[in-house]
Amino acid sequence: MRQPTVYERTRAAVRQQPAPEEGSSLNCKAYGCPCRGVIDLGGGFHCSWHAYASPDKWPQLTTNLREHEWLLSFVGEMQDHHQRGKTTKELGALAATFWEVDPSMAPTPDEQKHWNWYLWRVREELAYRVGQRKDKPTPRVPQVQDPKVWPQKVPA
Ligand SMILES: [Zn+2]
Repeated sequence: MRQPTVYERTRAAVRQQPAPEEGSSLNCKAYGCPCRGVIDLGGGFHCSWHAYASPDKWPQLTTNLREHEWLLSFVGEMQDHHQRGKTTKELGALAATFWEVDPSMAPTPDEQKHWNWYLWRVREELAYRVGQRKDKPTPRVPQVQDPKVWPQKVPA
């Protein structure tokens, strides 16, 4: 089967929605998965997590996703608040309160300016925590401060 392009994977992750009701026809077709199905593999819609995992890993992935429903909900709530026009300052305060026990997950000042960067990092964090990503994601920094892009502009 053709591997999905980065663009397709990105779109799938962006479309990832919080969980529909149990037993809903909108659910991912992987047994017991709490996520919405967004990618059609031929036998029905699957969530982006199951769609790109080999079927032998599905049961463990489902278990991991169920253990992280709190994080799936957080992603959905942050998207909702953002779409309903809360300011990034309000969103930053909500997120900082949510992550009081893990301040490394609160939005950085740059992520508060570019809220989609933060939403992206939280989704990547979810991927990391459910075993779909190898490395823990770090906050994105503006390219002008990124030593990989502009090594000569960053003081040592
Ligand atoms: Zn799923």
